[in-house]
Amino acid sequence: MILITGAAGYIGSHCALNFSENNIDDIVIFDNLSTGHIETVEKLQKINPKIKFIKGDLKNKNEISDIFRKYKIDSVIHFAALSQVGQSVVNPSLYYLNNVIGTINLLNSMVENNVLKIVFSSTAATYGEPKYTPIDENHPQNPINPYGNTKLMIEKIMDDYDLAYNLKSIRLRYFNVIGADEKARIGEWHNPETHLVPNILKSVFNNSSEFKIYGDDYDTKDGTCIRDYVDVLDLADAHRLALEYLNKNNKTDVFNLGTQGGQSVKEIFNISQDVTKQKISYKIVGKRMGDPKILLANSKKAKDILKWHPKKTVHDSIKNAFEWEKVLNDKLKASN
Ligand code: UDP
Repeated sequence: MILITGAAGYIGSHCALNFSENNIDDIVIFDNLSTGHIETVEKLQKINPKIKFIKGDLKNKNEISDIFRKYKIDSVIHFAALSQVGQSVVNPSLYYLNNVIGTINLLNSMVENNVLKIVFSSTAATYGEPKYTPIDENHPQNPINPYGNTKLMIEKIMDDYDLAYNLKSIRLRYFNVIGADEKARIGEWHNPETHLVPNILKSVFNNSSEFKIYGDDYDTKDGTCIRDYVDVLDLADAHRLALEYLNKNNKTDVFNLGTQGGQSVKEIFNISQDVTKQKISYKIVGKRMGDPKILLANSKKAKDILKWHPKKTVHDSIKNAFEWEKVLNDKLKASN
């Protein structure tokens, strides 16, 4: 049985769906529902009735260690974390408690119960300001915000736990994740939403939330920031491959997950206009603090070793995200 923490959230839920549809269906979801949604879990359980859900908080050691006593867990996929950079700057204590202490409780419960394999969602934010581009896994890690610090600390803790307790981890460092389930059963659902694609799409439904571009005078081809967008379904595949790799090789390792495509904010905006067939209004505002002008992944290692082959184009991802956004918009309207 596989334990997936944080599967009520965006990336975790798509991973649980992907596993369910690929015969890895014996799953326990552990989530405190602080940012994830019970509706997402219920949807997953409808698709895969074998999924067990335990509402619990990693900050409470007994809640997570109970899971290992109750279920025969073979490995863990760990998503549960707070992930808003801006919030982490204003309230670092929340991030260190939730992300770092929460993960220590999880790892200690694993070690105590002799569960020694974990796939961990890390982030490009552990690299900080790029020294060169595209960024490979050997790029120095110097996070520039508490969120990135928490993820880097966890990576280091995992190294120490490998040495001392033989706990093997695969850390997947994500770049910019976009997209949604192709049948719009689940998708990105943050409150508040800070990410580019959902913010563009939300402005289509809600006139009061005009889309804002954060800065158009960066030293890039069109003045807006460039990011490496990777589809959430491709990302879910990578987790499955990482788990297979871990089971086969029993070895700690780290992989970047991006596509090295590199789109600017304006390019993403234009693709969104194509997909929605709408003229979307926007305004240019000041730069957002801490945004590097360009972030591109070198994901050759994941391709070579995990045999990961991302398939979705940015157009596909935005199309799926738009279908999901329609569903979400209707759901939110109905509940108001
Ligand atoms: N961005 C923007 N308007 C928004 C949200 C994001 O212009 O409403 C820009 C942001 O400045 C960055 C890019 O879009 O250059 C991607 O931002 P996002 O928050 O999606 O991901 P991040 O790169 O911060 O992880």
